[in-house]
Amino acid sequence: IVASQTAGRALNSIVRYGAVMFHHGLYLSDYFDFIAEVGSMTASRGSARPRTPKQIRFEAAGFTYAGKDTPALHPVSLTFSRGEVVALVGENGAGKSTLIRMLTGLTLPTEGAVYWDDTDLATADAEAVWQHVGLVPQKNGHWPLAARENITLGQPHSHEDAPVWDAAGRVGMADHLRELPDGLDTLLARSVWGGQELSGGQWQRLACARAMYRRPAVLVLDEPTSEMDARGEHQIFRELHTMAPDRITVVVTHRLDNVRMADRVIVLDQGRIREEGTFDSLVQTEGSLLAELYALAQDR
Ligand code: ADP
Repeated sequence: IVASQTAGRALNSIVRYGAVMFHHGLYLSDYFDFIAEVGSMTASRGSARPRTPKQIRFEAAGFTYAGKDTPALHPVSLTFSRGEVVALVGENGAGKSTLIRMLTGLTLPTEGAVYWDDTDLATADAEAVWQHVGLVPQKNGHWPLAARENITLGQPHSHEDAPVWDAAGRVGMADHLRELPDGLDTLLARSVWGGQELSGGQWQRLACARAMYRRPAVLVLDEPTSEMDARGEHQIFRELHTMAPDRITVVVTHRLDNVRMADRVIVLDQGRIREEGTFDSLVQTEGSLLAELYALAQDR
């Protein structure tokens, strides 16, 4: 047992070192799929280094995947402002992920442009853009690292615990982490090293904590609560609202109960914006897609 724990700590240190080496603020640890892509992005783009954006503007920005006839996102003009929480809603294939990728510069529009304040993302340094982004991807990493590293991953090292506990508290994980055998130093993810496993919803909470810990200017969450219970989901949405004043927040969700906490809802359908407004106004509009999706969700 002692040997495996020692080996576990050694592994932890190696992975931790790797993660630190990796950081660059790019958050790639959660996005291995994008490494090659970001590499090519960095090579093919300009050197503009945007500051923390007050607004992200889509100017007739659309996107068509190579070899496809129909755009994944038909050209749209949209503004996301600091202080706002915007929810993106729509069925599978509606274009939500494509929109998020364009918002964060992972994908450049094939038509029109996306601006962060005055900077056209097509002219911006990808890494400089990503410094400002906190992303909760659909598939979050279950890292065989200490709880602390699972939250601080991708960030320069800090030895302070308070911000880590703060992030854990925001997602309702502080009590659970406190009860672990070594607190924040407890190895997570069950493996031969003897890490503590978490439930799917708890991993999602940690992924949210990781993004919140960064206190990013642009916080983007792609179905962050799909595996959470109602309480967890409510807590995350409440927290997004609390953190909203200093950032642009965009959340993709199929779970509609808490969407009313967003300031604005954008309903996408087959690559087009079908509806936009507050949850209450849209859900009360007869024949709206949101009302239909909401009714379906209630029947489940
Ligand atoms: P959502 O996130 O709302 O489910 P997406 O933005 O992922 O929707 O997809 C929008 C459209 O783009 C869909 O028709 C989908 O099939 C297509 N699409 C998504 N990713 C790719 C890809 N890598 N290559 C080709 N088509 C894609």
